[in-house]
Formats: sequence, C-alpha cells, structure tokens
Amino acid sequence: MSDNESEFKLEMPKVGIIKGVLAKDIEVVGGKVVNIRTCARPYKNMYSVAQLRTIKKVIEKYGSGKVHLSPRHNFEIPEVKQKEIENVLKDLYISGLFPGGAGTSVRNIFTCPDWCSKQIRPVQELGERVSFNSGDKDMPNKVAISFAGCSNSCSRPQNADIGITAIGEVGVNDKTCPDDCKECIRSCQFDAMEKHNGTITINDKCTYCCKCVESCPETVLSIKKTGFRITVGGKEGSNVMFGKECALFVDDFEAFEIIEKVLRHYQEKVAFRPGSSKKKERLGEVIERLGLEDFMS
Ligand code: SF4
Ligand code: SF4
Ligand code: SF4
Repeated sequence: MSDNESEFKLEMPKVGIIKGVLAKDIEVVGGKVVNIRTCARPYKNMYSVAQLRTIKKVIEKYGSGKVHLSPRHNFEIPEVKQKEIENVLKDLYISGLFPGGAGTSVRNIFTCPDWCSKQIRPVQELGERVSFNSGDKDMPNKVAISFAGCSNSCSRPQNADIGITAIGEVGVNDKTCPDDCKECIRSCQFDAMEKHNGTITINDKCTYCCKCVESCPETVLSIKKTGFRITVGGKEGSNVMFGKECALFVDDFEAFEIIEKVLRHYQEKVAFRPGSSKKKERLGEVIERLGLEDFMS
C-alpha cells in the first residue's frame, strides 16, 4: 500500500446512527446474513456502469450472487454476510449508492426515463429536486412519490401517495378538417371530441392526455400549454386506493411547493389507524378521514 493510500480516510456512516443509513434499510435475516436495499443519491433516474460494477462486485464478494431490482428502482442485495456490512456500505458509498428506500419514509422517487418520446413535459429534474429535498425523510408511514411524463402513467402515479403527471391542453388551429377524417375522435378514449361542419371542438370530458394530437394527420391539433396534474392519497397493496386530484396545470415550482405542503400536512394531521397504537395511517387514509379540502387547508 502506498503512503497516499494509507492516509486516505473515509467518513463512513454507521448503521442506525447516521441519517440515510437506518436499520430499516438493512433487514437482518437469520442472524448471520442481511438484505440491503440500496439506491443512488441524489436520485438520477438511472444507474451508471460504475455503480452496476460495484453492485456486481458486492454481490459476488459479500452476497450470494443474486440481486433484485425493486419496482421503485432500488437494488435489493440479499444474503450479505452480516459481519461484512461495513465493507459493503463502504463500497456502495464510494460509488454514490446508499442504503435507502425502505420503512416509514419517503421511498425512492420514481420517474419515467428522459428519453421517452411520449413525454409531454420532462419530470426528471423535478423528481431529482424532490428527492434531494425529501428523499428518505422520516414519515408516519411509507410515502411513494411518482412522476409520469404523460398520461400513459408508466410510473403509476395514480397509485402513489403523491402522483405527478404531465398533461397538455390541446388547441384547435384555424384550419378546416377533411370531411372523411375522424382520426382524433377515434383516438380519444374519453369521448371528448366532436366534429361539426368540418370543425373540431373539445368538450369538458377532456383529460389532457394529448393522444389526439399525435393522431392528427393535418396538424390541426397542437399542444397549447403543458403542466402537471397532482393526485394525492393513492396506494398499492391489498387495499388499493386511487389518488384524488389536488392540482391541475401547475408548473415545476408550484408542484414542488405542493409536494412539500402535502408531506408537511401528513406529518401534522396523521393519527393511528383505528384499533392500533403502533401503526399510523397512510396519507390516503388521512385524506379519507378529513376530506381533501380540510387536509390541504
Ligand atoms: S408515462 Fe409517458 S413519458 Fe413516461 S415512460 Fe410512459 S409513455 Fe413515456
Ligand atoms: S387530450 Fe385526450 S381526452 Fe382530451 S380530447 Fe385529446 S385525446 Fe381526448
Ligand atoms: S383534427 Fe386532425 S384528426 Fe381530427 S378530424 Fe381534423 S384533421 Fe382529422
């Protein structure tokens, strides 16, 4: 070992003591091995080759050669020898990987990839900012936050505690449509388009998905403005809940403020689940008990 290497000292977080490394991210299994849940911080929506190499090294050296990719983009490394936790955390830490994404906290932020051609408005930077501010924050129960670049909702925002979906308002240009064209009407799943005397109108059933714009062969339709729909109180699990809409056409800054407010109100207004003195309500249960208006006020 060279002189330089021997001088190198890494400030390692200690399990259960330092913020970001909580015992809940490291599950003890059978007393000798643990499962470690890890993710990149700040959230980058993807893992680098160097990080994947680190995970490979860790699972080969300290684990059982297996790794699981969770639905929220965490790597879960099972069966790591308990006595090697410090070494594993050190290897992960050097690669920008931290224990996280478990327990009663803000779970790993989930966004679509930024290369998807369907996205109406980018969500990755907003997701990263929210992760930087609130990722792993202790909460009364787990909180999933999902961002989708369009209404296809690949990141499942409707079933997240807080869901952010990019939407667009469709404008009809001053052009007459060909008589036989009904492409946009066919593409709209919400019966929101009508055609009278060669002119298209959009009624109030519109959900701002913008599918009709893609379908128009004559560029009569275009996206006039974009923004986010925010839904709160969704959840997956045995009792699935769909989030309630709390904001429409907000910009990045407003969305950030609303997310922070929802997290704050959740901490302030939560109660124990009926009949339990240990488990606190999920966000959706608080909203169901109080009503959305009271919860937000
Ligand atoms: S939700 Fe839309 S933008 Fe995001 S990955 Fe799916 S299709 Fe692409
Ligand atoms: S934006 Fe979506 S819901 Fe609205 S008219 Fe177009 S296809 Fe229909
Ligand atoms: S708006 Fe476009 S798709 Fe719809 S009828 Fe007119 S030309 Fe066809």
